[in-house]
Amino acid sequence: MRLVLVGPPGSGKGTQAERLVKHFGLTAIGTGAMFRDAIGRDTAMGRQVKPMMDQGLLVPDPIVNDVVAELFRSAVKPERFVLDGYPRTYSQAIAFDALRTQEHLPLTAVIDLDIADEEVVRRISGRRCCSNPACGACFHSAARPPKAPGTCDLCGTPLIVRDDDLEETIRRRLGEFHKNTDALLDHYRKLNLVRDIDATQTPDVIFANILKALGQ
Ligand code: AMP
Repeated sequence: MRLVLVGPPGSGKGTQAERLVKHFGLTAIGTGAMFRDAIGRDTAMGRQVKPMMDQGLLVPDPIVNDVVAELFRSAVKPERFVLDGYPRTYSQAIAFDALRTQEHLPLTAVIDLDIADEEVVRRISGRRCCSNPACGACFHSAARPPKAPGTCDLCGTPLIVRDDDLEETIRRRLGEFHKNTDALLDHYRKLNLVRDIDATQTPDVIFANILKALGQ
């Protein structure tokens, strides 16, 4: 099973990726998480991408493609995976297609999590994430509250509002998402890989619909 999850920020990609990982025993690959880790470790690449992420802008395609190619060519090359947040542009999809062909890794499906912008803004304004970059777990004041308010369930570190979860930032990210995603989905639709899923449902219903769309 090799999956790509496509959806705006706040569509529940991370939650569904976690469930798919558990259900099918997949490796989760999140380019946003990889960048946040690089920023936390203060690497040269982390310092390069931080200002773009803080402004809600996409990181340039060559940087993202290199990070992903490095992973797929490394000793820990994932064979069965769910990708959360990559590819995000048509040009990333083309680069990823070439990489997968070289590495003999055909895709099973592209899951398109469909949700209106206003619902995304409502959801994200309640989001609080772990300030420990090695953890990064996210909670929601209404939908997924942590056991102790303001504290990460997994590692006990204080929760914060990520810079890229501020409303102004989120509206810019939604703009970027729409600008880039149509061409990406068109490309995968031609390959008959896209499965459209209503992402306004509860996480349980969304997950059940994903399994159904995958014929499971
Ligand atoms: P995410 O955690 O997937 O919402 O990503 C957070 C931020 O990381 C995005 O707003 C972008 O700045 C950057 N980012 C993550 N993945 C990509 C990608 N595939 N292409 C460009 N920028 C990305």
